[in-house]
Amino acid sequence: MSLTESAPVTLPPIPSAPSVFEALESRVRSYCRGWPKVFDRAQGSRLYDEDGRGHLDFFAGAGSLNYGHNDPVLKRALLAHLERDGIVHGLDMSTTAKREFLETFRELVLAPRGLPHKVMFPGPTGTNAVEAALKLARKVKRRPTVVSFTNGFHGMSLGSLAVTGNSAKRAGAGVPLTHTVPMPFDGYLGDDVPTLAYFERLLDDPASGLDRPAAVIVETVQGEGGLNVARAQWLRDLAALCARQDMLLIVDDIQMGCGRTGPFFSFEDAGITPDIITLSKSLSGYGLPFALTLLAPGLDVWEPGEHNGTFRGNNPAFVTATAALRAFWSDDTLEQRTRLLGAQVERVLRSIAARHRTEVAGVRGRGLAQGIVFHEPGRATRVARRAFDLGLLIETAGPRDEVLKLMPPLTITTTELEEGLAIVTRAVHETA
Ligand code: PLP
Repeated sequence: MSLTESAPVTLPPIPSAPSVFEALESRVRSYCRGWPKVFDRAQGSRLYDEDGRGHLDFFAGAGSLNYGHNDPVLKRALLAHLERDGIVHGLDMSTTAKREFLETFRELVLAPRGLPHKVMFPGPTGTNAVEAALKLARKVKRRPTVVSFTNGFHGMSLGSLAVTGNSAKRAGAGVPLTHTVPMPFDGYLGDDVPTLAYFERLLDDPASGLDRPAAVIVETVQGEGGLNVARAQWLRDLAALCARQDMLLIVDDIQMGCGRTGPFFSFEDAGITPDIITLSKSLSGYGLPFALTLLAPGLDVWEPGEHNGTFRGNNPAFVTATAALRAFWSDDTLEQRTRLLGAQVERVLRSIAARHRTEVAGVRGRGLAQGIVFHEPGRATRVARRAFDLGLLIETAGPRDEVLKLMPPLTITTTELEEGLAIVTRAVHETA
């Protein structure tokens, strides 16, 4: 060793600086905790992180990306609109993009299904559509009470929270959530207990303590509440009950609409016509914020400007929504494919359930919203974590995170679907 050389010293590791997400962003963030990567780009059914690793997507933006990420047809329409300086922000001004959306929505969605509904632009998010629906129902019926269902989820603003079941979410309100009454959803008391008979008994009994509601709000499949499926007959009975008892029927199709269960609207198989329908999530087709509240014509009692909002005219979303309707809803190809792929997913989940009989309580869902229900709370979270390590984004649902929820883009290729199902199978096995 020369005089200038010194003995090697082991330096303590330099603590890595917290990322800007940890340092600056509120603790309220959630999805990024289960998927601790920085995502950079996405195409179809895959997201790529900054290290260039691809992650297969069985989450689809919580139902906002039914047609996958950055669909090339939608992207071209959006780029062309921006390139020609088409209107971007329009409040509720009449614009070319809005006209094209309304005409296309009438031609491809409303008219073929015989729906006479008027279209209201309530603000760009799902909870905006729900708030508008609740406000309108109360205004029309001049009654404050709205009935919701156990395990329902309708959004995080105060009106929507008041019709949401989850107690942890409700607690965040910080004020009493009033003028709502929860009723048992289909199957809540077991498949053989007719929950609507209980509801109607309360309505008919002048001593029940239930004030006559203005409306009932329901999801046909409870997306956040654990993929609980309302049977078609239950939905028909609910629609008939609403008609008999002078209550408006609001179907919240924000997560299950736009083809998630097969048909464009998730209530189509039941053959019902809701008075009010809320839509958002995959409506723009491109992940752009966009929501609608559809109202039966006799309900359009709004005064001009009575329900307002700065971002009701998201014209780029009109453009991609129009392109999505033309690309995916001009015929029933996507609907039929979703039903087929849904049956394939269900088969695989049933075989996982059979192999893990002691741990799995059941398989439930419809179309491409399917889930495995575990007995143990938090078990689904462990599977989702392992799936992430194996290259798959998948989320959990249910009040105790007991449901592993599969929601791939409807446009996923069969090879990708098989790849994701193999990861799910392996992740359940390895966390058993
Ligand atoms: N309604 C349903 C059925 C939903 O699933 C959601 C969101 O998950 C909402 C309403 C609220 O939508 P947003 O998060 O866009 O406010």
